[in-house]
Order: sequence, then C-alpha cells, then structure tokens
Amino acid sequence: MSTVREQRPYWALFVALGTAAAGAFVALRASGAAPWLTGALYTGLSVVTAVVVLVATWRYRPKGRAGWYLLGAGQLAYSVGDSIHLVRNTLQGNSAFPSAADAMHLAQYPLIVAALVSFVRRRAPSLVDAGILAIAAGLLSWVYLIPLTAAEGMPAAARAVTVTHPVGDLVVLVIGLRLLRGGGAHTPSCLMLLAGLLAMLAGDTVLTLLGDGATGIGCFLWLLTYALLGGAALHPSMRRVDEPADVRAVPTSARLVALAAASLLAPVVLLVQYQNGETRDVPLIAVACALLFLLVLGRMAGLVADQRRLAVTDALTGLATRRAFEERLRAPRRKAPFGVVLLDIDHFKRINDSFGHPAGDRVLREVAARLHAAAGPGVLLARYGGEEFALLAPGAAAPQTAALADRVRAAVGGGPVDLGDGVLRDVTVSAGTAVLPSDTTSPDELIALADRALYAAKRAGRDRAVAAGALPPEHVATITHRPAPDADEWPTPLPRRRTRLEAA
Ligand code: GH3
Ligand code: MG
Ligand code: MG
Repeated sequence: MSTVREQRPYWALFVALGTAAAGAFVALRASGAAPWLTGALYTGLSVVTAVVVLVATWRYRPKGRAGWYLLGAGQLAYSVGDSIHLVRNTLQGNSAFPSAADAMHLAQYPLIVAALVSFVRRRAPSLVDAGILAIAAGLLSWVYLIPLTAAEGMPAAARAVTVTHPVGDLVVLVIGLRLLRGGGAHTPSCLMLLAGLLAMLAGDTVLTLLGDGATGIGCFLWLLTYALLGGAALHPSMRRVDEPADVRAVPTSARLVALAAASLLAPVVLLVQYQNGETRDVPLIAVACALLFLLVLGRMAGLVADQRRLAVTDALTGLATRRAFEERLRAPRRKAPFGVVLLDIDHFKRINDSFGHPAGDRVLREVAARLHAAAGPGVLLARYGGEEFALLAPGAAAPQTAALADRVRAAVGGGPVDLGDGVLRDVTVSAGTAVLPSDTTSPDELIALADRALYAAKRAGRDRAVAAGALPPEHVATITHRPAPDADEWPTPLPRRRTRLEAA
C-alpha cells in the first residue's frame, strides 16, 4: 500500500537538508548574524527532528516501535530544552547555568538508553556485556575527563551538568554499538543512528574540553546528530534495526579479555588514586565496583543457563535431548502411570545413501515437526538417538499410550517428505511402547521394554506400533540386542497389529 511512498528517499533528503542547515548555521554565526536567527535555526531543526522521528515511527509501524518512540521522546525532550534555551538565554539574556533547559537536555539520556536497550534486547537478548562496558567507560571518563575539562573550575552543579553530557553520550554509544553485534542486519538506519550518537559524543566532548570557544563546532556536530537521527528514522530499514542477531552463546577470548579488563577497572582506579594520595569520587567508584560485580555474576549465570540449554536441546531438531528425556523419566516425583514410546525411522540409511546426509537431516527435522504437532500438549518429545525419537506421556496408561503411538506414527506417514530439489519420499516409523506401572515399575526397564517392542515392530514389517505388554514372555526375556534387520531376513513376521486409526 505504501511501498511507493517508502521508496522515496526522504531519509537522504533529510540528511542532506540537515547537513546543509548545519553548514548554514556555522556560516551565519561566522558572519555575525543575530543570535536569535542562529538560535531559531538550531532550535527549529531540533524540533523538526523530534517530529520526524515520531511521525516516521507512526508511519512505518516497526515491530520495535517502542524503541523508536522512546528515541523520538528523547529528541523531543532535547528540543524542549533547546526551545527553553532559545527563549531564556538568547531572547531574554538570562545566562544562569544550569537551568530548566539543562534538565530537559539531560532527560534525553534515560530515554535514549531505554530506546537502545529495547532494540538490543530484541536483537540479542543479553545486555550484560554492554552494561559492563558502559559502566567501565562511564567511570573512566568521569574520573579522568573532569580534570581535563573546561568544567573543572565551575560550581559543582554546572560542572556535573557539563560533564554528564560526554559521559552520558559514551554510555549511550557503548550500548548502541551492541546493535552491531553478531550477524544479521547492519542496516543503513542502524549505521546512521550510531553515526548520530558518535556525532553527539564528539560535540559534547569538544565543548566540555574546550569550553565556550568551541560552541560553533559543538552546535555543528549536534545539528549533524539531528540530521542523522532523522535520516535513521526515515530510512525504510528502520524496521529491521532490532532484527534478531545470530549471536554465539560462548564468548570469544577477545571478548572475555575486554570484559575482564572492564570489570577490574574500578579497583584499579581506586589503587591508582591511593598511590597518588587522592580520594576523589570514592562513593561513585564503590557503586561502579558493586554494579560490575553484580553484572559479572549475572553474566556467569547466563553462561550456565546457555550451557544447560545446549545440553537439553537437540541442535538439529530443537527437540529435547536424550539426556533431558532421561532426567525427566527418572525424576523422583514422577507419578504413575506414564507411558513411553520409542520410535525409529524405517530404512533411514537408504535415504542417506541415496540422497545424501543433508536430505537425511531434512527428514529428521520434518519427522520431528510432525511428531511435535501430533504428540499434543503435556507430552515430552526427545530425539533419543540418531534417527530415534522418544515420547514420555505423563498420566497415560496402556490404552492412551497405544493411541499416542498410533497417532504419531500415522502423522509421520501422513504424506511425503520433501528431501530437497523437489524430491518427495514417503517416510515411516516403527514404534515400541511400554507403560509404568503395568509393564514394569523401573523407569530404566521401561525403556528397555519399549526398545524390545520397537524391535518387534521392525521385525514384524515396520510402519507399526507394538506394545511391550503384547509381547510373548520369551520374546521379552531373550531379545537383549536389536540389530535392525530387514524384514526379509525374518521368514515368519509377527502378524501386523491393526492400529486404532486403521480400525477407525
Ligand atoms: P531400520 O528400518 O531397521 O531402522 O533401518 P535403518 O536404515 O533406519 O537403520 P538404522 O536405524 O540403524 O539407521 C541409522 C542411520 O541413521 C545410520 C546413520 O547414518 C543415520 N543417522 C544417524 N544420525 C544421523 C543424523 O544426524 N543425520 C543423518 N542424515 N543421518 C543420521
Ligand atoms: Mg536406528
Ligand atoms: Mg532406522
């Protein structure tokens, strides 16, 4: 509906006009134009940018629109600050600092941080690394930037406001850089957003280091920030800024070194101060230290959770692993009755041999999906081995377990599977079932019994389910190993059991 409109490069127009306006601002200032004129130009661009971000978000309706609305709100707060500054300082000549304008300027930081956190969380859920780096960067610039700045001689409140800007920008940028983490979209919108944050940091740093003499260049860089922010919001790729990234669960060693250095920073800063006989910012350093400890603990808990998830999730099919299945099977508080169904794909080797391993993997994924859909809620489904699956049905006695086995077996055989390149093949499974407590009271023996029943199903011609309870006693006693024979090696197959579905 709106594709034609969206393809118009409004974003490029905004960036070009914004940059030209920034240039015009500098030229006007240099030519001694009236302050109300340059002030109005500056404030106008600030307000327009806020409106553009909010309207573009409303127009594009991205999934992560909360983040974009927060960014728009941050710019709106900033532009209100700019407007107050224009009226108070420029028109009324009131140069008290800090003022309500500064409060509005500082209000943008929590909003921008919330916006970026919402993007990054949607993209790569953990923000712990970003938090560790942001706190370290913030602490370092707070402790070492102030003595270098033009703010050093100011009264405490003015100094705090002046220095909070570059520190806030740095924290915002470190969090924003997490948008580049992992694979996935490094969209033009994302890059413009980050370039805008960088311009903001540059503007604030220049002004903090050089003082009022650098107002012109500072304003130019801030105007560039507005141009880039508006461009980022207007670019159609703004919808994909928070697209999930392909992030590795295990951190690289470079990342670990960076995180270790960042988390050791606070005690190192204290030691350096102690060495120099200083006691500056001790409460701040102590708080940073505590936060870093907590974040490192959170990071470790996250790694343990990742490892646990990997151990209990099969990578190919997304089902539970054998280990997870056996844990659940042996859970001490598991109530009887319950049934297990073991399934093995029939003649799976032939698929691998004829169509290759990737085709075999496709079959495994499709079988897993069909089993999942047919098993229904409450049933634990696991990939038990290479091409074997297991189901654990809590509360199921023999009839329900048999019905479940029939249902999932029929679901797998219900239609051909696409092996890739348009090749379709029917795939069937054989199933063996056993029930606790009617077949045995031991969970381990339950698996052995279901395995024997599965063996009997293979022997009887495959594509069927056999219940351990239906096996003749000598069969249960003598079969201990299941070599997966072909049907024709068995001259006297067991009669094929009519399944419930066939009976229906
Ligand atoms: P049967 O009907 O008797 O079960 O015959 P079968 O050919 O299925 O025999 P079997 O169960 O012994 O086959 C197991 C095969 O599964 C052998 C192995 O190469 C294959 N396999 C195991 N894991 C994977 C996997 O992850 N991917 C693929 N493509 N093949 C696998
Ligand atoms: Mg097998
Ligand atoms: Mg098999």
